[in-house]
Amino acid sequence: MSRTFADAKVHTPANLEEALDFLANHANEGWKPLAGGTDALVPIYRDGAEPTTPWLNLQKLRPELRFVRRTSNGFEIGALATISDLMANRDLCETYPIVRQCCQHFASPAIRHRATVAGNLANASPASDIAPVLLALEAEIESANHAGRRFVTLDAFWTGYKATVLAPDELIVSVRIPHRDLAANASMFRKVAPRASNSIALLNCAAIGTRDSAGTWTNVRIALGCMGPVPMRARKVESAVEDHRFDDTCREEAKALLQSTLRPITDYRATAEYRMLAATNLVSAFLDRTAGNWHS
Ligand SMILES: Cc1cc2nc3c(=O)[nH]c(=O)nc-3n(C[C@H](O)[C@H](O)[C@H](O)COP(=O)(O)OP(=O)(O)OC[C@H]3O[C@@H](n4cnc5c(N)ncnc54)[C@H](O)[C@@H]3O)c2cc1C
Repeated sequence: MSRTFADAKVHTPANLEEALDFLANHANEGWKPLAGGTDALVPIYRDGAEPTTPWLNLQKLRPELRFVRRTSNGFEIGALATISDLMANRDLCETYPIVRQCCQHFASPAIRHRATVAGNLANASPASDIAPVLLALEAEIESANHAGRRFVTLDAFWTGYKATVLAPDELIVSVRIPHRDLAANASMFRKVAPRASNSIALLNCAAIGTRDSAGTWTNVRIALGCMGPVPMRARKVESAVEDHRFDDTCREEAKALLQSTLRPITDYRATAEYRMLAATNLVSAFLDRTAGNWHS
């Protein structure tokens, strides 16, 4: 018998307050938030799995949580903002071109209209496309439960493969991007995948920084996906190139540090060796750029 979402146990709160109260009052019952369902419902529709998870359907929270806006400190992305919403926000995409580059390579238009940013991050896949971009932009997560709100930096948000710091009674309410890269003159998003679109990454990389006319890098941040159990920053490489002219010595040091930090796996999508080679090439391609405005 084919299964559908209609076979699942679902509760649909009318607003955020009701959702948080519900989670507090039904702790230990296994209720999970459901946003666009493009990850959460795959086991039912692709694998025909028994719908055993009870879902807390967030659709009625859209008036409160579906937004992308500039604030005095940066950009704020509501938990129910979709990938299409990010692409539609010219201010965000012009300020940080890597956001648009990433979204253009994310799934297909139909998925982009449903898939939320918060769902992508909460799903905690090392292959998330949004994760490296938001890591490079030093985003943080705002979460809430019935007792209040807290902020967690994105690089402290994932605790392992498909695991996060979120408690069972906690929801992501927004993602914040601080205004600290406004002067960056270089940024890059690259996704290595079998197809140009509608394909899960074998590897992805987001980088941002400023290179001056003498070839010196400052404020460099590099993030990679699929190179370990969680998306990660290449912090050792960042420190090695920061305030340095990127010459042959620096290039070799960066390469060695990258290779000693990354722990790619071999799976059905790619071998660890391929991932390592591709990651090294992508990071070098970014750092080799000459001064000037490079956003690609
Ligand atoms: C055909 C296809 C192509 C895809 N292509 C890509 C791609 O190119 N790149 C990519 O990165 N991903 C891709 N995905 C994966 C998926 O679309 C994304 O991860 C998406 O952003 C998930 O968001 P969602 O709103 O659908 O989350 P859901 O499926 O609703 O939820 C995902 C997880 O997040 C949790 N969650 C959702 N909202 C919240 C919240 N507010 N607070 C706490 N937890 C929450 C859920 O409980 C669940 O565990 C693809 C999926 C499909 C089916």
